[in-house]
Amino acid sequence: MEASSGGCTCGQIQYSIGGPALQLVACHCGMCRRMTGAPFSSYLVVKEAQFDVTAADDSLASYAVTERATRHFCRRCGTPVFNTNPHTYTGLVMLYLGTVQGHETLVPGVAIFCEDKLPWVSLPEAAKPFAAAPRR
Ligand SMILES: [Zn+2]
Ligand SMILES: [Zn+2]
Repeated sequence: MEASSGGCTCGQIQYSIGGPALQLVACHCGMCRRMTGAPFSSYLVVKEAQFDVTAADDSLASYAVTERATRHFCRRCGTPVFNTNPHTYTGLVMLYLGTVQGHETLVPGVAIFCEDKLPWVSLPEAAKPFAAAPRR
């Protein structure tokens, strides 16, 4: 899955991806809905070592969503840009799909927390469904 760059709505935060993305995940958990305001969220998973972010001023802010998961967003425009969870997903960065340049052509390979999925949301055929989160 190829993607090489992205950024927030106002452009203060830009990032580059130096290798192929590992997976595109659709997450249907209730926390993602609250965090994004959207019916579900989609994350492009990339290696932290291949991820570079540049932020103008102090525009990159973060919020500890849980003890383990941190959400990184633009303080200026409010765009959620990526999540990190070094305990559970060591060495990985979860990019919010809508911030990825060229995301229109990417399709989720897995869907997680499908138990909590809104009934009117349908999964793409390519996505392997998991009731909760798959073990790594
Ligand atoms: Zn911004
Ligand atoms: Zn979620």
